[in-house]
This record gives sequence, structure tokens and C-alpha cells, in this order.
Amino acid sequence: MTKNLAPETVAAQAGGAIDAETGGIVPPLHITTTFLRDPDNQYRKGYSYGRPDNATVRQVEAVLTELEGGAASLVMGSGMSAATSAFLALKRPAHVVAPSVMYWGLRKWLQEEAPSLGLDATFVDAADPAAIRAAVRPQTQLVWIETPANPLWTITDVEEAARIAHAAGAVLAVDATVPTPVLMNPIALGADVVMHSATKYLNGHSDVVAGALVFRAKDAHFERAVRMRAMLGTILGPFEAALLLRGLRTLNVRVRHQSSSALTLARHFAQHAGIAAVLYPGLRTHPGHAIAARQMRGGFGGMLSVRVSGGEAAAIATAANVKLWKRATSLGGVESLIEHRASIEGPSSPCPPDLLRLSVGLEDAADLIGDLEQALDAS
Ligand code: PLP
Repeated sequence: MTKNLAPETVAAQAGGAIDAETGGIVPPLHITTTFLRDPDNQYRKGYSYGRPDNATVRQVEAVLTELEGGAASLVMGSGMSAATSAFLALKRPAHVVAPSVMYWGLRKWLQEEAPSLGLDATFVDAADPAAIRAAVRPQTQLVWIETPANPLWTITDVEEAARIAHAAGAVLAVDATVPTPVLMNPIALGADVVMHSATKYLNGHSDVVAGALVFRAKDAHFERAVRMRAMLGTILGPFEAALLLRGLRTLNVRVRHQSSSALTLARHFAQHAGIAAVLYPGLRTHPGHAIAARQMRGGFGGMLSVRVSGGEAAAIATAANVKLWKRATSLGGVESLIEHRASIEGPSSPCPPDLLRLSVGLEDAADLIGDLEQALDAS
């Protein structure tokens, strides 16, 4: 496809993929697990077996690489599979720096599993560059950030984090699941690796679990991640990859709509007596607003959290009383989700007990506001 097309064009046309055999404008689904060898036993078409590689997965990777402005992508069976691969592909033992506010599942893995795998993590307030700078050591190989970060929507300055990581000889990896390439491109801001839980916005329809790593360069870290995926079989299955490719085609309109509705909800509930605080980087009152406005474009994302005035019991009751919002975990789908995060994340989480996390879907914003208001009133 012609280079330098807008991301909207790349996503809508799935990178311009046309099936060479039929002219189909939707790429075919490749389910074969094995490939015919050339008579001299070579694999000149570039495929040998379904565990290291798959043509439908490659199509998704090509679109993601272009959307993120990277050199190569690896699509895997979940966001956790992608995230843990970025750590496990380091030369271990390794010291890493990670934020105290981050996707709780990965934090739990870093705390409980990673030490026995030769990974020693220091957790910092990643909204404060001085805290990141103080945590890096000569042995630090990777700095991990997430921005906006679950579930407080803390903002990290990606350019500053990249400078700190690089000065220490480490790579910067960014969990960009929430901004998606529509609102932020970490590689353009200096990051070396971008991670996505493609289960969320990239697929967008709550029907695929998938993950991705996008690399700035095809370097040694990337090559180790390629080998690990091939050996461990963490590649995404072709059926899921085809659904993901379809989801990607509407990424731009979904994320922009969700982001605009989230801002409407944030502004509305910031003035509501039943809500003690709204956590959303799009509000001027958010401590990370100026940085988010600089490094994101066209919106602040479809995720926000509210702290319910009546405390934990009122928050749980509000989630129990919604009719339109779905009481479920995950985020980034077309249907709006509400969740009492502290119940999930447990006592080691920085999540306050009165917090409800909201994933804004594609429903009418006024309907979503009305439903949440009746649930607050009934609680
Ligand atoms: N990163 C973020 C920000 C997430 O929200 C999630 C899932 O909730 C993950 C990573 C993990 O992704 P997955 O559930 O696809 O393994």
C-alpha cells in the first residue's frame, strides 16, 4: 500500500490487503498449520508451521506496525502473554522499573512470579519523573509504563520516561491499551516497545482475547521475543486474528466516539452530588491533564473512574443498580462496563474502595448518564 497514509485509512482498509487469488477486499482466513516444502526442502514462501507464524496473524501485525510507526509487531494469545514476553525476552537476571498504578494482573505477576524468573521489579509513582530517575540502576534493562494507567488514569510523560530509560541504558515499554494508536503513538514519543491488550479497543467487540507487542526496531530484544513466541506457542489463533483484523477496521470511529462520550460523562459527574471525584485526564483538574494534552491527540480515552460520595457500600450498590451499564470486567468494547475495582484488585492495590471504573461504549451518552444517575439515586 502507498506509504504515509493517515492511520484512519490504514485501519479502514486493513493495510490495503487484497486477496491476490480472488480479488477479495477482505483478506482470507489462513487456518493451515503446515506448508508444502519446496522439492529441495526449503520454505521459500516464508512459512513452515503454524506455531511460529501464521498469514492471518501477519496481516494484523502489518496493520499494527504501520499504525504505531514501528518496525515489527508480534501478535499473541492475550495482552498478558504479550506483556510478560516483553519482560521474559530480557537477558536475565534483570532489574526493571514499573509503575505502582498499572494493570493489576501484570503488577501481580511482577510481584509474585517474576522474581523466580530472574526479574527484580522496583515499583514507582510513574507520574513523577524524579521517582523513575531515582529507581533506575546500572542493571536496569527495562522501564515499563502505562498511560493513562488503570484504574486511576494516572499520566506518565512518555518522552521524559524515554530519556530516563535511555540514559540508564534501558528500553522503555509502554502499555498503550487505553489510548490505542488513535490517540497516542508511544514510539514517536521515544518508546522502544508498545504493548496492547488487543482484547480491549483494538478488537473492540468483547469477543477476542489477544495481545500485541510493537517494536521500534528489529533488535536483539525483538528477536528473542520472536523465538520465545515460536517455541512457547503463544501466537494468536487464526480465527481470532481474522476477528481482530475486522475489529481494527473500525478502531478510529469507535475510539473517537468513546473518548468524546467519556469526556461528556466526566464533565457531567464532576458536578454531581453523588460523586466525590471524577478521575479522567481530559478534565483540567486532573494532575496529568497538561501532559496528556501534549502527548495524546484528539481525545483522552474512553476510560474514567468515579469515587462515590457514599463510600464503598454506596459504590457497590450503584454498580448493583445499573440497568444499561454491564457489571463486568475488561474494557474497550462497544458496550459500556462498570466495575468496583477494589473487589477485584485486593488489598495490595492503590485503588480506593469507593471507586467505580467505567468503560464507555458506543451507546448514547445521555442514556449512560441517566442510567448511572438512577443507580446512584437508588443506592
Ligand atoms: N493491560 C491493560 C491496560 C489491561 O486492561 C489488560 C486487561 O485487562 C491487560 C493489559 C491484560 O490483557 P489481557 O486480558 O488481554 O491478557
